[in-house]
Amino acid sequence: MKTTTPLTNADLHCHSKVSDGTLEPEALAARAQANGVELWALTDHDEIGGQQRALDAALALGMSYLTGTEISVSFAGRVVHIVGLGFDHRNEALIAGLRATRGGREQRAREMAAGLAQVGIKGAYEGALTYVGNPELISRTHFARFLVEAGHCSDVSEVFRRYLTEGKPGYVEHRWAGLGEAVRWVREAGGIAVIAHPARYGFTPTEEYALFTEFIAHGGRGVEVVTGSHSAADAAKYTETALEFELLASRGSDFHSPEESHTDLGRLADLSGRLSPVWQALEHRIHRPAASS
Ligand code: AMP
Ligand code: MN
Ligand code: MN
Ligand code: MN
Repeated sequence: MKTTTPLTNADLHCHSKVSDGTLEPEALAARAQANGVELWALTDHDEIGGQQRALDAALALGMSYLTGTEISVSFAGRVVHIVGLGFDHRNEALIAGLRATRGGREQRAREMAAGLAQVGIKGAYEGALTYVGNPELISRTHFARFLVEAGHCSDVSEVFRRYLTEGKPGYVEHRWAGLGEAVRWVREAGGIAVIAHPARYGFTPTEEYALFTEFIAHGGRGVEVVTGSHSAADAAKYTETALEFELLASRGSDFHSPEESHTDLGRLADLSGRLSPVWQALEHRIHRPAASS
C-alpha cells in the first residue's frame, strides 16, 4: 500500500454561544483539544464575532486554527449553508455582508412566534430570546430549546419535526444571502467557500447539480464530505461528487452542544485518501501555535 502523510484531525465546523451553540468559544477550544483536534475552526452562523477569542484560545492550547463562519443562503427555494474558511476576520465587506444576512432574523422570529401562538404556544419569541440575548442572532435552535424547556416536546429534534420545518406552524421562510454574494464575501476576504452538509438539503439530482455548478461558477471551491449529519453512505456519495467536480474536501462535526449533538468535536471518520483536503489549500491561512517542545 502506498504510504501517505499522517492524517490531520481537522474539525472545521462547530458553533458557540456567539450563534446557536451552548458553549463559549474558549470551552469549545478546550473540548476540541481534549478530543485530539489538531486543526480547528469555529463556524458560527452568519457571525464572526467569536473568531478572535477562538483563535486566541486555540493557539494557547497548542492547536492550529482557521477562521470560519457558516452563511445562510437562499437557493432554489431552500436554505443552503456555505462554510467560509481561512478568511481575514477583520475584512469590512465580509462583516457588513454577514450583518445584512442577520438583519431579518428578528422579524422572522416574531412571525414564527405568531405561528406558534396560533397552535397554543404562547411567549415563544420572548422565551427563545432568553437563550441568545441578541435578536440579530435568534434562530430556530433557540425556539427549539424554549419549546423543550416549556414541556411541549421532549427534545430538540422533536421540536424541529413537529413545529419548525417547512409546512409546520412555526416555520417561516426567510430570504437569506444570495449564493454568489456569500461566496464572494469569503473569497474577497482571502478564504475558501465550502458547501456545508450537502446531504441535508433534500435536493433532486437536477437541483443539486445546479447548486454545485453555480457555486463553482461563483468561485466556490469546497464541499463538506465528512460531517456530523452525514451517514457513511452520504460521505461515500459526496466523496465521488467532490472528485467529479474537482472540489476540495472538508470535515467538521457541526457540534452545537454536549446535550444536543450526536457527533462530538474531532470524533469523525477520516476523509478518503483520494480527496484533497481543503486545509492543504489553506496552508498559508492557518494560524499556528508558537513552536513548542
Ligand atoms: P435557522 O438558521 O434559524 O433557520 O436555524 C437553523 C439551525 O437549526 C441549524 O443551524 C441547526 O443548528 C438547527 N437545525 C436544523 N434542522 C434541525 C433538526 N432537524 N434537528 C435539530 N436541529 C436542527
Ligand atoms: Mn446551528
Ligand atoms: Mn448548517
Ligand atoms: Mn452548522
